[in-house]
Amino acid sequence: MRNGATAARIAVIPGDGIGAEVTPQAVKALRAVTAPGKRSMEFVEFDWGADKFLREGVTLPAGAVEMLRDEYDAILFGALGDPRVPSNQHAADILLGLRFKLDLYVNARPVELLHDRLTPLRDRTEKDIRLMVFRENTEGLYVGVGGFFKKGTADEIAVQEDVNSRKGVERIIRYAFEYARRNALKRVCMSDKSNAMTFAHGLWQRVFKEVRQEYPQIDSRHLYIDTLAMEIVRDPSQFDVIVTCNLFGDIISDLGAQLAGGLGLAPSGNIHPGRTSLFEPVHGSAPNIAGKGIANPLGAVLTSAMMVEFLGWKSEAAWLRTAVRAAIHENFVTPDLGGEKRTVEVGDWVANYAAKSFGSKLK
Ligand code: ATP
Repeated sequence: MRNGATAARIAVIPGDGIGAEVTPQAVKALRAVTAPGKRSMEFVEFDWGADKFLREGVTLPAGAVEMLRDEYDAILFGALGDPRVPSNQHAADILLGLRFKLDLYVNARPVELLHDRLTPLRDRTEKDIRLMVFRENTEGLYVGVGGFFKKGTADEIAVQEDVNSRKGVERIIRYAFEYARRNALKRVCMSDKSNAMTFAHGLWQRVFKEVRQEYPQIDSRHLYIDTLAMEIVRDPSQFDVIVTCNLFGDIISDLGAQLAGGLGLAPSGNIHPGRTSLFEPVHGSAPNIAGKGIANPLGAVLTSAMMVEFLGWKSEAAWLRTAVRAAIHENFVTPDLGGEKRTVEVGDWVANYAAKSFGSKLK
């Protein structure tokens, strides 16, 4: 913790739509597995999102990045996006702003099937679907370098640059290998489209060939992204760790989320090792179900488990994950997973379950 503090300081940004509904459930679960005198947490909530933007014209307040960097151990994030802000300007400013300005270069998206009935793949079971996707998070096609020429005319041209630095490619590939080594995982797959994108992904190829030599104990291979998309559906059990660029990682991790029960269950971390990092469920603000009280909070709870694991709190992470798994196995779930429960009911159930694991460990 910072400066010898006993409590982890967590900045909570619930955001818009269902982000504001699921994030309190994650905080409740975190409170259930922490306590003063043990490892504890201090939560400070920030109201950044569409309402504030519409009211005050403020997206990411001045000084916010430095404050989060210097005063908080981690950020728990909900979702941004609101039909009243069609440009989504506030979402871009806040989320992309934090990703880029905090240099959160690792987007970690675990894909784990928690119950056989949740996968759309026939005859696949929990043991077949357990992998980690590492998406480069600060470069590629998402940096916003580009422009229009003759905009609005029949001759319009639009250009969007794919920006890849040697440093950026190397650190994400190295992170994937290090993660595999730390977790005794045997297989790393790097995916690109270097046969067509010869310059940008030629760099990925060269860096991958160099870095993999440092990890001879890991079985590393390369697949073009189109082949990976086919293979991950045909046989997901062949993957432990996948590392890829910003655009491909965005797509392949959503595909992965569907293999493991849908967006409502998928967690993610935006990480810079050793620095304040940001954790968010993969799903967005889901305006179609916002305000109905039926959003699935389990993705947010699994996100909070990733966050405490990032802080080095392994048992707390395990208690949270066990509670989520139990809710699914008991079918105590929201409609997206075939249940009838409401967001808060599921949140309460999971927090109670996690609190029992926590309590029994204290005895
Ligand atoms: P945004 O523009 O903010 O990304 P979106 O609606 O386009 O929002 P998502 O929020 O990611 O995209 O979700 C797509 C759909 O998946 C939602 O409309 C909703 O039906 C479903 N969904 C996503 N998250 C959840 C959840 N936590 N619980 C239940 N359904 C969900």
